[in-house]
Amino acid sequence: MALAGGLPRLPSHITEGLPLSDSSLLSALHEMLGSRGFVPGASVEERYLSDVLGNRGESPLAVVRPADTAQLSAALARCHAAGVPVVTQGGRTGLALGQLPRAGEIVLSLERMNAIEEIDVDAGMATVQGGVVLQALQDQVEPLGLMFPLDLGGRGSCTIGGNIATNAGGNRVLRYGMARELVVGLEVVLADGTVLDDLKPLLKNNTGIDLKQLFIGSEGVLGVVTRAVVRLFPLPADRTVALCAVRDFAAVRALLRHLRAQLAGDLTAFEVMWSSYYDRAVTLLGRPAPIAPGHAFHVLVEASGTDARLLAANVERALHGALEQGLVADAVLAKSGAEIAELWRVRDLAIETSRLLDPIVPFDVSVPIARMEAFLAEVAAATQAVDPRCDLLVFGHLADGNLHLAVHQPPDRPETFDAIEAAVYGVVGRFRGSISAEHGIGWLKREYLACSRSPAEIAMMRTLKAALDPRNILNRARIFE
Ligand code: ZN
Repeated sequence: MALAGGLPRLPSHITEGLPLSDSSLLSALHEMLGSRGFVPGASVEERYLSDVLGNRGESPLAVVRPADTAQLSAALARCHAAGVPVVTQGGRTGLALGQLPRAGEIVLSLERMNAIEEIDVDAGMATVQGGVVLQALQDQVEPLGLMFPLDLGGRGSCTIGGNIATNAGGNRVLRYGMARELVVGLEVVLADGTVLDDLKPLLKNNTGIDLKQLFIGSEGVLGVVTRAVVRLFPLPADRTVALCAVRDFAAVRALLRHLRAQLAGDLTAFEVMWSSYYDRAVTLLGRPAPIAPGHAFHVLVEASGTDARLLAANVERALHGALEQGLVADAVLAKSGAEIAELWRVRDLAIETSRLLDPIVPFDVSVPIARMEAFLAEVAAATQAVDPRCDLLVFGHLADGNLHLAVHQPPDRPETFDAIEAAVYGVVGRFRGSISAEHGIGWLKREYLACSRSPAEIAMMRTLKAALDPRNILNRARIFE
């Protein structure tokens, strides 16, 4: 923090027209963080203002980019004293609009806090700063024979701090859990600049209330994740992927039970594609489908293990058993890395396939597997009631109870967007599901929070917010008003 001396005051056009309190705050932040750590509102680059879907926020007062926890703490303390709201940004890959700045806010970017500080191979843990890009950590530990198992489409941009703040899920939750399960220790800075240091690399630590859990998945409304100790696992030597055609939902459930029993911890993915998804996705492949369309369900199964031959034998035996029991109508097994990539391609075409139904209303919901079929029947009926032309496309991480839905919205009736959302979230509420399985609430789903959380739960969230951020400066109006 020795950057203060001799820095020029902010040019007057930057602070012109702002309340005196704001302009003196900006001058103080500039002095504190230097030119690398402070970008005035008028010079803010486009990337701080938009998300991957092309949504755009409003112009912030400034972007601050602290170099370390001490700078971040000092900057937050100044914002807190001035009562100026702050929106935290990691890799800006969030899908709930939470990271987009609103007018009058200061953007707090962790992009300069991107050091992987320590990798402890014996303990299977890494200590990282909040701004480390997910893929950078994955790549760094792989040559050591280790893996950081969290994995999602935004891996090249999203940050570990953002993954933790939003309790990210993704492709391997079935085997390794959500981000929460991978966090061992955490350093958090509170709204007033207080540094909460719970950065101990201890798997077992029952010393009173586990405070770090408050911040995991809190979407940054209670504090800023600045550093973390995360778990690493042995890198599997090999993986096997199969695509199965299944005739009905009862058989899908039976197949999951069968594979869990046969493959136990080696089962790493069980991705289910309804025909509404699969039959459209294969038209985008540009080559024959791995299994012809026309089945009710297609299931992508992935297993990984340390002994390649044993793994292949186990998967083949499990699939053979499933065919014999009539759980699977048809199956293909990938034999090479290229074939594995081909099978995953069908599932990875999710965004492109959903676009075939444009304009769509997208959903990311959870419901217990046992009630999923009834849930989807009610969703279909509720959206048809909004407009009979509403069409439904479904796929998801079935073993996690997580479905991604895209509802086609009649293009000549754009006003039906809200009605479709309300209809689907109403069904989710009745089935005691979650309106956001992995994407969070952010700015986007605030008004539907009560579909998934009780009044007592929301009141407790507000109590925590008021206690930890009494001036309501952190990610204001995200999750709830
Ligand atoms: Zn997903």
